[in-house]
Amino acid sequence: MVENDVTDGVSPFDYDLFVIGAGSGGVRAARTAVSLGARVAVAEDRYLGGTCVNVGCVPKKLYSYAAHFHDAFEDAAGFGWHLPEVPRFDWATLRDNKIGEIKRLNDIYARLLDTAGVRLINGRAQVMDAHLVRVGEETFSAGKILVAVGGWPWVPDFPGNDLVVTSNHVFDLETFPERFLVLGGGYIAVEFASIFNGLGSDCHLIYRGDLFLRGFDRQVREFTRDEMDKKGVNLHFGTNIESIARVEGGLKVSLTNGEQLEVDAVLTATGRRPNLAGLGLDELDVELTEAGALKVNDRFETSVPSILAIGDVTGGPELTPVALAEAMHLVQQHFGDNSPRSPIDYRNIPTAVFCHPNIGTVGLSEEEAREAHGDIRVYVADFRPMKHTLSGSRERCLMKLIVDDATDRVLGAQMVGEEAGEVIQGIAIAVRAGLTKAEFDSTVGIHPTGAEEFVTMRTPTRR
Ligand code: NDP
Repeated sequence: MVENDVTDGVSPFDYDLFVIGAGSGGVRAARTAVSLGARVAVAEDRYLGGTCVNVGCVPKKLYSYAAHFHDAFEDAAGFGWHLPEVPRFDWATLRDNKIGEIKRLNDIYARLLDTAGVRLINGRAQVMDAHLVRVGEETFSAGKILVAVGGWPWVPDFPGNDLVVTSNHVFDLETFPERFLVLGGGYIAVEFASIFNGLGSDCHLIYRGDLFLRGFDRQVREFTRDEMDKKGVNLHFGTNIESIARVEGGLKVSLTNGEQLEVDAVLTATGRRPNLAGLGLDELDVELTEAGALKVNDRFETSVPSILAIGDVTGGPELTPVALAEAMHLVQQHFGDNSPRSPIDYRNIPTAVFCHPNIGTVGLSEEEAREAHGDIRVYVADFRPMKHTLSGSRERCLMKLIVDDATDRVLGAQMVGEEAGEVIQGIAIAVRAGLTKAEFDSTVGIHPTGAEEFVTMRTPTRR
């Protein structure tokens, strides 16, 4: 039998596992390892729950809900609702309620660790050698060290870049930005452009390429562009920020195309980098990828095998559920029965972008499928949701299925529309299971929903 890394009290180390970073991945790994008998400590120098809970997924979704009320108030009139006065948005209420909710979640994380018997150590950890970590004045030895420190927003270099905010601070702005600008064309840029637009800002999105959301299905990107444009987001493609200067009453943003805009706040959403500063791993010559992330093998071991890493710091898909899956996989391998396991399958990871309307996607885009499979059938439904027959809103919904012609397997599903993430989560099970279009077709729809389109599209739109 292969030995695992649980030491049953005979370890020469203080801990079997020392986790650096109490974000989604780190906390999950710590709790799961304890449940398998490991002695675990976690060091954290900032907030429990990491980016997702504090300055990512959770507050973003709360603000997205807040922004959706804008549309809801407008939609209501067609259904007979007359609001006594024009609804007024109060930023401080949203921000402070958010702070209360995040505090509640931080406390839950602390309790979870405490109840599990994980020792929580406050402070920035430094890895001293393959089995030694220092936090402040204290030093701890561990059989395995897990680096789960996540990423950190990266800001491009241009004059005035000290005047921008990043996603770390945008939730807590002192005053509501009536005029808001976001730089970037990824998840964070389109989500925050939609949020501030919905909350009532005059909102600009600046993206250097011809169309945002590079890597997503082209039709999804074009559809999203048109929907965001209809909702009033000012989209500027093919340009970048040249400089920002403080002027009376705001910030003057000069673009590389010669345009100038005056706004109250600028958010840079130009990607995130592994948060490795000060960890001491460079001194141990731990190998990095070309992008500067920690290089790991299928067992999440770095080039120093007792130092493990998961989540954003390894440069994989920067998504909370991926970090959670990696945490559980790692713990099973190192602290479980250690039987050989197949590596995590990173294909068909569903994802949602919470721009308005939302994007949900799983599997291949039309372009990727054409490249990989050649002959495909593409089924497209582009329609006005039933709700908007009375609301008067011009918002449309897009659904797409991409099918391999040779095997009839559904290779990808795409949606842009209300609650796209909720819909695609279910479809993702079918795509991951490798179901065929015929199996989708034999599934009875739920009527009347938008989602039933996924089982009723019969005629290919193109091949
Ligand atoms: P992304 O990597 O998704 O996007 C970065 C954007 O910044 C790209 O459009 C990129 O352009 C642009 N950019 C990069 N460098 C420059 C530059 N020098 N000047 C101008 N523009 C530049 O990063 P985000 O910050 O949006 O998000 C980070 C990650 O967090 C995402 O990749 C995602 O995995 C995760 N996330 C997930 C969410 C979700 O699941 N809903 C929500 C938010 C974040 P180009 O395309 O031309 O390279």
